Amino acid sequence: MEFRREIAVTSLLAPPDFKEELHTIEFREDPLTGVSCRINTHRARRPRQIEKAALPNYNLTTPQDCAFCPQNIECLTPQFPPALLSDGRIRQGECYLFPNLFPLAEHHAVGILSQEHIVGLNQFTTKMIADNLLGTIKYLLALQTHDNRGRLYPIYLWNHLPPSAASIIHPHTHILVDRKPTIYQQRLLECSRDYFRRTGKNFWHDLVEEEEKRGERFIASLGSNSVITSYAPQGNREVLFLFHQASNLAELSENQIEDFAVCLTRVLHGYSQMGIDSFNLSSFSGPIGESPEYYSLHAKLISRPPYQPFYRNDTGPLERFHYESDIEVEPEVVAKELRAFFSEDNPYANEI
Ligand SMILES: [Zn+2]
Repeated sequence: MEFRREIAVTSLLAPPDFKEELHTIEFREDPLTGVSCRINTHRARRPRQIEKAALPNYNLTTPQDCAFCPQNIECLTPQFPPALLSDGRIRQGECYLFPNLFPLAEHHAVGILSQEHIVGLNQFTTKMIADNLLGTIKYLLALQTHDNRGRLYPIYLWNHLPPSAASIIHPHTHILVDRKPTIYQQRLLECSRDYFRRTGKNFWHDLVEEEEKRGERFIASLGSNSVITSYAPQGNREVLFLFHQASNLAELSENQIEDFAVCLTRVLHGYSQMGIDSFNLSSFSGPIGESPEYYSLHAKLISRPPYQPFYRNDTGPLERFHYESDIEVEPEVVAKELRAFFSEDNPYANEI
């Protein structure tokens, strides 16, 4: 497996004394897809003028009219047609799952994570996440039975707080299910199939084995789930969760969900310790009902800018137009920090 990188060094005369300063920009390529990013850790220290304008005492309040809060959820959220789900909504612990009122996919559901309107990253529990995913699986299995016109590709998305593009603060996930994979998902499936044809092996199993051997980006393996930082991340502090025995979301067992929920909770608590409050999570799943041996289900988590009235967006023209990410934290440093949250003497283990 090749972990390609190229280093460029650029020189400039920096004020106030205009002495020569050398900057290193590292270009990395993902070992499967070739999707590239550039890393300059020095950029984390650059001034952000707009953030200085942040208002003091910026507090979140709980609005009475939040449709996802317990007093409103039964009357303000939509229901599934009875032909799909006779109860209208799926209930699983604190999770309510119902159709998105403003759908972005042929099948688009929203899953509430907690009855609380505001949940900090260190307050998410394994049970909240596991219940949300159990509800998601029920939805996917109902769709599989109801809609048999061809392949269905599910995506499990979690946007937390407005810097991640969430419009509702109350913690919730999105489940999108379409007949076609996204272009990136298609590329993952094709590249994984090509790798299998070339080597006779599953790329994702090889990746975890290779990263465990190298160690610098490996965080932990817990039951059926392995956690690493991505070699060429698409976002800052990108963490990859690999499901060893699944290639699509709908086939996850309760044990696999539990293992993933424990891993994700620990990483979220780790993010919280790093001062992060906003993030995106996405699954990358094969089609429902198929289990190709060349592909493994996985999910990626990235941090987003802090939630405050004025912040600098971390996604610019390179990401939007050139599909190349501007990264300011080395994956190896993130892995080192998060590894502590999986150690036996993890001080936060009891809170999870
Ligand atoms: Zn609410």
